[in-house]
Amino acid sequence: MNTRVATGSNPGPAQYGHSVGGQPVAGTSGRTGPVFNPATGQIQATVAFASAEETRSAIRSAKAALPAWAATPPLQRARVLFRFKALLEAHADELAAIITREHGKVLADARGEVTRGSEVVEFACGIPHLLKGEFSDSVGSGIDSWSLRQPVGVCAGITPFNFPAMVPLWMFPVAIACGNTFVLKPSEKAPGCALRFAELLSEAGLPPGVFNVVNGDREAVDTLLADPDVAAVSFVGSTPVAEAIYVTASAHGKRVQALGGAKNHLVVMPDADVRQATQALLGAAYGSAGERCMAISVAVAVGEVADALVAELKAGVNALRVGPGTAADVDMGPLVTREHLHKVRGYVDLGVKEGATLVVDGRNQLVPGHEDGFFLGGCLFDHVTPSMRIYREEIFGPVLVVVRVPDLEAALALVNAHEFGNGTSIFTASGAAAQRFSQGVQAGMVGVNVPIPVPMAFHSFGGWKRSLFGALHVHGPDGVRFYTRLKTVTSRWPAGQKGSSDFVMPTMK
Ligand code: NAD
Repeated sequence: MNTRVATGSNPGPAQYGHSVGGQPVAGTSGRTGPVFNPATGQIQATVAFASAEETRSAIRSAKAALPAWAATPPLQRARVLFRFKALLEAHADELAAIITREHGKVLADARGEVTRGSEVVEFACGIPHLLKGEFSDSVGSGIDSWSLRQPVGVCAGITPFNFPAMVPLWMFPVAIACGNTFVLKPSEKAPGCALRFAELLSEAGLPPGVFNVVNGDREAVDTLLADPDVAAVSFVGSTPVAEAIYVTASAHGKRVQALGGAKNHLVVMPDADVRQATQALLGAAYGSAGERCMAISVAVAVGEVADALVAELKAGVNALRVGPGTAADVDMGPLVTREHLHKVRGYVDLGVKEGATLVVDGRNQLVPGHEDGFFLGGCLFDHVTPSMRIYREEIFGPVLVVVRVPDLEAALALVNAHEFGNGTSIFTASGAAAQRFSQGVQAGMVGVNVPIPVPMAFHSFGGWKRSLFGALHVHGPDGVRFYTRLKTVTSRWPAGQKGSSDFVMPTMK
């Protein structure tokens, strides 16, 4: 089978192909990419890159499956998802192992990602209730009005490397619960989970063609964006690509939600418990080696808290345990690729050149026995200013920068002036400060004494400003809105009356 996943009991390089019509399909384009094990630096698999024609064949399969699936009662669709949810739980450790092997994050974190993704399936299992419309009796004499939500058609998902299970699970469970069919193009750096999802969905009884996976790069993406049979595109990734996807897919008449990058600030007020704020910052900045769109990458130290906060952070970063994600007692694994390691390390070099104070330098991190792994130790900068590139740009690695400001208003102004507005947080003992911040801050997700305010599956996830292009967030109620079209029916059943023509706007008399 071409989608074999290299497991502990079944080692050796895997060949990842595609999944079309419920079947594994070998790549035929002749183009492939490497999938690394970031902890060893070795290539552990190759992944096929789909040609335009291979991508079109997945779209055709989704199109062919659409009429029957859209006509399947929501309760029956939900029952498939209930079975899929049970399979996800049964295979959670296996999925977490795939994530750690391809992404590098520690196993417990990978397991958490699977759980957060499964919760979206749990939400989608409630689809009969979620699709209930509105009804108005007697909007006119003998006239009723009611609304329903219908599927949009073939939906495409394009996803990033950093949550290879959770981000696809933000999308397709809700899309297929709503009666759509789906083509997923996962990250070429971590394709294993997507193909496993296809197998588990088939096992759960999903009809062939409802869910398809094409692996690949820009050629597959460009095909999905332009094909007239794709009705909606969900994207999660970096901001330049998100913006290009939004512009291109919109120009082709599709509805689009494109989630981009971030630079999330955590504001520490002088009345905050410094130890608590430090613990929160360490997990939020260095967990998953900072490769999270909701990672905290800027600590905003307000007033006199700064010196104590930096001292506590310094001790905490120096104590971080770095190693392969499969090892016990490791806080932080490697970065995803050597190229990304060089990019992040380049930002640390740049911060020093820009005049920031490098309080902890993780550039010489060694992990015995894993000398070729893509490891970088935790890095901490103090006295960072808003004009520096290490402040303005998303680094996406274990690098936390501290900006010092005099008061809450200055902190708010700083956060609001940044081009990104994904998530942000405040640590304080003051309800007034928390309220002022929550109301005034320009970001889609806000935490109060919570460092990573990721909404649960039954709420919606999304940022503001250049962290999201499009009107609707993912999963939760916005997910249902995105994957359905609203229809409003106005109906009358005249009994024995003669019809008459009305040449003016009908109004209530
Ligand atoms: P990326 O933008 O490089 O890739 C994302 C997807 O787009 C991949 O499937 C990739 O193959 C495809 N792609 C890349 N370049 C393309 C191009 N030129 N044309 C068409 N398709 C292209 O992102 P990444 O490095 O995989 O992921 C990290 C980024 O994702 C970070 O910026 C992070 O903040 C962001 N992210 C955002 C969220 C969010 O919810 N806002 C969540 C997770 C990750």
